[in-house]
Amino acid sequence: MPAGLLTVAYITSSILFILSLSGLSNQETARKGNLYGIIGMLLAVLATTAYAAGAFEGQAPIDLSQGGYTLLAGAMIPGALIGGMMASRVAMTSMPELVAVLHSFVGLAAVLVGISSYMAPGIPVPAGEATIHEIEIFLDVFIGAITFTGSVIAYGKLRGSISGKPLTLPGRHLLNLAMVLACLYLGYAFIGQPDHGGIRELVIMTVIAGVIGVHMVVAIGGADMPVVVSMLNSYSGWAAAAAGFMLKNDLLIVTGALVGSSGAILSYIMCAAMNRSFISVILGGFGTGGGGSSSSAAATVEGSVTEFSVEDTSELLTEAKSVVIVPGYGMAVAQAQHSLASVVKLLRDKKIEVRFAIHPVAGRLPGHMNVLLAEANVPYDIVLEMDEINDDFPDTDAVLVIGANDIVNPSALDDPSSPIAGMPVLEVWKSKTVVVMKRGMSSGYAGVENPLFFRDNTRMLFGDAKKNVDAILGKLNG
Ligand code: NDP
Repeated sequence: MPAGLLTVAYITSSILFILSLSGLSNQETARKGNLYGIIGMLLAVLATTAYAAGAFEGQAPIDLSQGGYTLLAGAMIPGALIGGMMASRVAMTSMPELVAVLHSFVGLAAVLVGISSYMAPGIPVPAGEATIHEIEIFLDVFIGAITFTGSVIAYGKLRGSISGKPLTLPGRHLLNLAMVLACLYLGYAFIGQPDHGGIRELVIMTVIAGVIGVHMVVAIGGADMPVVVSMLNSYSGWAAAAAGFMLKNDLLIVTGALVGSSGAILSYIMCAAMNRSFISVILGGFGTGGGGSSSSAAATVEGSVTEFSVEDTSELLTEAKSVVIVPGYGMAVAQAQHSLASVVKLLRDKKIEVRFAIHPVAGRLPGHMNVLLAEANVPYDIVLEMDEINDDFPDTDAVLVIGANDIVNPSALDDPSSPIAGMPVLEVWKSKTVVVMKRGMSSGYAGVENPLFFRDNTRMLFGDAKKNVDAILGKLNG
């Protein structure tokens, strides 16, 4: 095949990846975006395999004849099967964990490819470019190791097998600085060594970078975890881009840069939404003093709660002129979105204004609630972002909080000692009546008590969200 075809395939894949990202930024075009991404990746894998097999004219092929095809198939087929199985089985609520594991694979791959490419370079490097190539290898392994261990810790934190509390060692920033300086020194010693002589420096740096990854992520806690997930997404992109430079693969550079920059932009947007400093979060809690994501305890809440029944809730909803529904992680756990969509339809048929208020970090991954509501065919035009609806609560008759907690916690605004202090929240307490649906009085992800439950205009409807929404649906139908 003419060599130009490879370039065409790579450019087409890059365009498909860009179209994919732009499609994924909107619920209505998300499916199409996903499809573009799948086609782009298929094309990229096919073109790269053909390249490795020497199918393009005038290129130095990687010799696959000596058992290489078996190796390639032995890696790709089980990989595709395991990936397909994992993705099809994962519950929506466990998606962030899956994403964290996948980031760790990118990091590990970058480390392994970097070290093997140093020991046995597959692509001959011209003498003049040797130093640049070594820098690429060093950077690739450095970012890859941080991404790998950081993602493993994020996975543990999201699963709850590692405590979500930030571990803030005394002098942790100095420790990070010392480790980065040690890596810089090792980089200096690594470059220019003949006959793979720098492998010792490369391996020591890999271990230190791994410790940096662990240390950075254990220092982040509470409600800041969403930012960590998207930040690791960004790191995995930069690791892939560095690997692209190292392997002289333009598509990998473009794809890595797309993932790296979109992850960084998303992290920045999330930080802005949560009133956190981007730098402080990515540096592992740097600059967070008494408030912020530190481990300081918020004031304990005292008082009594007013319980509500399914009948009371149905009555309140039918008598209201305007209703706002605030979904959270509990709605995802209970899978209440389909029954909820039916409730919304019945209320709208009765000419009651019903809207959804979506907090940027509701649930456990960006866009979590939007995906669930889209799955239940809730019309997009009644699903509003926090900024679009927060001023409307004083004019709202009834707010239904379904399995949400941290995102409606007033202490974020009025208790400076709260671990979520400063995070913008949905100000539901400003409405006439708030009904909070949850199973008990336990706290949310950030582990903070919620004074909303004790307010005069708050009613608690205890129980599983799906069961209660079904019961409300029954009452409205009956
Ligand atoms: P929270 O985790 O604050 O609260 C969820 C509530 O749902 C719990 O208090 C729980 O109370 C209730 N619940 C659980 N299961 C059920 C059920 N079956 N039926 C009814 N209620 C249930 O969720 P929010 O969505 O309010 O806030 C998201 C939090 O997660 C934020 O702190 C955010 O920073 C963090 N986070 C967000 C990520 C993202 O990207 N969106 C990623 C990682 C973390 P009870 O047990 O009493 O029922």
